Order: sequence, then structure tokens, then C-alpha cells
Amino acid sequence: MAIPSLTLTDGHRIPQVGFGVFRVDPDQTERIVTDALEAGYRHIDTAALYGNEEGVGRALAASGIARDELFVTTKLWNDRQAGDEPLAAIDESLERLGLESVDLYLVHWPAPARGTYLNAWEKLVEIRDAGKARSIGVSNHLPEHIREIAAATGVTPAVDQIELHPAYQQRDVTDACAALGIRVEAWGPLGQGKYPLLEETPVVAAAAAHGVSPAQVVLRWHIQQGHIVFPKSTHPDRIRENLDVFGFALTSAEQDAITALDRGGSVSKHPSEVN
Ligand code: NAD
Repeated sequence: MAIPSLTLTDGHRIPQVGFGVFRVDPDQTERIVTDALEAGYRHIDTAALYGNEEGVGRALAASGIARDELFVTTKLWNDRQAGDEPLAAIDESLERLGLESVDLYLVHWPAPARGTYLNAWEKLVEIRDAGKARSIGVSNHLPEHIREIAAATGVTPAVDQIELHPAYQQRDVTDACAALGIRVEAWGPLGQGKYPLLEETPVVAAAAAHGVSPAQVVLRWHIQQGHIVFPKSTHPDRIRENLDVFGFALTSAEQDAITALDRGGSVSKHPSEVN
């Protein structure tokens, strides 16, 4: 199954669908990422915070898949943003992953109360220039944060990875990203299973019409919106199902009906509250 890729503003390409490992038990990560690689995923989204970079690295090494066929993202945690800490943090992440570089390194949250996100971004630029991250971006950043770091450094993030699903579309952020050429990565694309997205009438109706599952409909909606997604599951059948979203297309009426589900239904804290 060919997974489409998108071009980032820095010219590098990213597979539009990947596999996320938030809350995947470190002891289970190698096995679950191996399942994902066997199912055909080539893009893995992890973070230092998740505590499972070593398991991801073991699965990548054991897979025998060529490095240039893989796309690996990890993230800088809030308590490493100050001073030269980001330079040490990327080396530690690379060591755990068993890689010489990642494809994408992100500032995980702006953590505004710390006052260090601009320093973190300046250090990510150094990390990119040193060849330790091919592309660099941010996560959970609001338009004001993005404008500030881009103006101060002259470097625009390649992506902003934000909570985004039909019930919480963050139009203010996605509009700002579109204006700056920043790709939107949608975390919690299925609403983390916390919000009854998969029972919404337009989702259920489209699933019946196309003979697919409600989760596949929601993921397909993201694809057609142009988002990058990396749904998480620990079940092999769902891992396969979540990648199998390229054999059908939602009509514009189906797409619009799902877009109309936007209602501020966040599953997370506001970026100002995560420090
Ligand atoms: P998700 O929306 O991918 O939801 C995962 C949950 O959805 C699963 O635990 C399961 O309950 C359910 N699910 C998965 N596949 C299903 C299927 N086929 N049918 C029915 N239910 C299904 O949530 P997520 O894991 O939080 O987000 C995906 C990835 O985004 C994470 O693994 C992580 O890589 C990233 N993420 C980033 C941040 C950030 O701050 N940058 C925050 C959270 C997540």
C-alpha cells in the first residue's frame, strides 16, 4: 500500500500517515512498533516524555528497513528548553533511538510560564544545522508563539503538531499555519477515544456508505483536510485498519458534514496551562 507523502516548507517529504506511541508501555513498544512496521507504517511519532524511544529504536533496528525509508519524529520536553539543554536532550534521544539523526524534532509545548520556548527554537535551528534533525518544528504552539520564534530567527517551523479532530479543529491555528506554509500534524486524530466521535451521525453514515469503520472515516477526513496523522493503537487489527484509508474517498458532502462537527471539544489542557 503506497502511503502518500507531503512536502514540508523546507523541501523534505513526510509520509501523511504514521504511527503514534503516546502511552504505549515502554516494555511493549518494541513489539507494537514492529507490528506497525510489518503493517506498512514507515513514520513513527514518539517523544522523550513518552519514555519509549528505546523500544522504538529496537524495533527500527530489528526491522532491517533502510534508514532512508523511515521517518522518525521525537520531541524536546519542557524541562529541557533552557540554556544548552536542548543540545544535550537531542543527543540523549538519538542515543536511545539508536539513530544518527531524526527526520523531525519538535519543541513539545511552548510552556510559556518557563519563558524559554524562543531559546528552545534557537537551539533546534543549531541542531538542524548540525545534521541531527533533518527538519524542525513545534507542537501545541499558538499563532503568537509561532510568529515570535519565526520573526526572531528567520526560521519557520516545518510543522505545528496540535490537538485536532472533527470536534476540535483549532481554525485560528490552522489558518495561521496555512498562511505561513506550516504543515499541520493532528494529534489525537481520533479524539483519543475520549470523545464519542465515532458515534457521530455523519461519521457512522459515511462508514456505512463506504463499507469501512468509523475510525477509517475520521482518518480519511483528516487526509482530505491535508493533515498529517499518526493514530495510536496497540491492537494489530486496528493498527492495520488505521493505515487502510486510501481505498475510498469521502464525497464533499460527507467531508463537509464531518467538518460541521467542530464544537470546541478538546481532550487536553490549553497550551498556556502546560508548563
Ligand atoms: P488517538 O486519537 O490516536 O486515539 C488513540 C485511541 O483511539 C486508542 O487508544 C483507542 O482507544 C482508539 N482507537 C485507535 N484506533 C481505533 C480504531 N481503529 N477503532 C476504534 N478506536 C480506535 O490519540 P493519541 O494517541 O493521543 O494521538 C496519536 C498520537 O499523537 C500519539 O500517539 C502521539 O504520537 C501524538 N500525540 C502528541 C501530543 C503532543 O502534545 N504533541 C499529545 C498527544 C498525542
